[in-house]
Amino acid sequence: MIALNPCPKCGGKAKLIRGLPNMGNSKTRYALVQCRVCFYKTPTLRPEQDESSESLKNRAISLWNSETR
Ligand SMILES: [Zn+2]
Repeated sequence: MIALNPCPKCGGKAKLIRGLPNMGNSKTRYALVQCRVCFYKTPTLRPEQDESSESLKNRAISLWNSETR
């Protein structure tokens, strides 16, 4: 797994948040990255067509890691 860079706002640790189709009552998959300290986060990403969950996860991580620090 690609490492998450520290938070661009506070330097805190970040975590990946994902929604999977078999969780809860929603069939919607999503992924975002959020700071554990200040809760700054990326926009919520949703899969494009039949994009894999792995690809979606990697896009969220890339987005987070490309934030200006
Ligand atoms: Zn933060």
